[in-house]
Amino acid sequence: MKLAVFSTKKWVKESFSRVDTAPLEIVYFEAALNEETALLARDNDAVCVFVNDVVNAAVLRELAAGGVKTVALRCAGFNNVDLKAAEEMGISVCRVPAYSPYAVAEHALGLIMSLNRKYHRAYSRVREGNFSLDGLMGFDLHGKTVGVIGTGKIGRVFIDILSGFGVNILAYDAYPSPEAKAKGVQYVSLERLYRESDIISLHCPLTHETYHLINSFAIETMKDGVMLINTSRGPLIDTAAVIGGLKSGKIGSVGLDVYEEEGDLFFEDLSDEVIQDDTFVRLQTFPNVLITSHQAFFTKEAVDNIRDTTFNNLRALAQGEELPNKVSWEKG
Ligand code: NAD
Repeated sequence: MKLAVFSTKKWVKESFSRVDTAPLEIVYFEAALNEETALLARDNDAVCVFVNDVVNAAVLRELAAGGVKTVALRCAGFNNVDLKAAEEMGISVCRVPAYSPYAVAEHALGLIMSLNRKYHRAYSRVREGNFSLDGLMGFDLHGKTVGVIGTGKIGRVFIDILSGFGVNILAYDAYPSPEAKAKGVQYVSLERLYRESDIISLHCPLTHETYHLINSFAIETMKDGVMLINTSRGPLIDTAAVIGGLKSGKIGSVGLDVYEEEGDLFFEDLSDEVIQDDTFVRLQTFPNVLITSHQAFFTKEAVDNIRDTTFNNLRALAQGEELPNKVSWEKG
């Protein structure tokens, strides 16, 4: 089976090269998959893509014309794939449903700790010989209320980690988890979660229902000084509304591992360039905003699991078996 791997960063190639990839014949492209690069996949049986590759109807049409029959996502989310178009064009889609919920949950906690105790600011100050504590005061997590939106694999691990901090947890999920309920997790309405939480962390997928879930109306309902954490998908948050909340002081701090328009920025070294995205640049001017570049998943264990599941998915298909971890339009 011939496989074209897109968005190949150094760490992707290193991880893929550490194992026997037979029977896959792999060609690596640094470029992301999009309408301009889809031609590169010609004569391959499958393409392997990541979170910011564009797999819309136009790209799928080009892939189908070039003989590609499978799109293997090396991530869990599949919001970047037009599943309906894929089905119409006879292209199957698979993903890596879970690779390390711990990696993402631990990163969410890291964002909370850094924003609260301002490690990122303290690090820079001390290196410059500034030992003042002004502006670095945090709050005890103990006794605070944390709202968790989405109690799937990552949300549940996040709740488990938090249980050691003596916080109250309020959860919201469109489909509450019996496992979480059995552990005593309290599910409440979204409105109550907004009203009572000191910290709100997003762990639900990006769907039509969750697009701009955090909008100005939701922010208005929240506690003054709320901390918002998003390690899920950028468009869950209306960034303009969050900037408004930060400017008015309604929002106390924001930790983002994902951003609405991250496709043009994240995973690239743009340190020599002028960033054209004014909204992103405005976000970065706030001292109480901490942004990481979609790295929550990025642990050795997660990257190895992503590689192994991706190869297992494609190997099974190459051996004439049913494609594992298939994502279909109906289910999507
Ligand atoms: P999951 O499918 O196990 O859990 C998602 C949960 O969200 C489910 O319990 C589901 O019922 C719930 N949900 C669905 N629609 C909802 C809605 N409208 N409102 C509230 N809850 C809703 O997924 P997971 O593995 O826990 O991952 C969660 C998300 O984290 C993924 O969708 C992905 O976007 C994101 N993620 C980010 C990274 C990263 O590196 N930043 C890595 C992996 C996953």
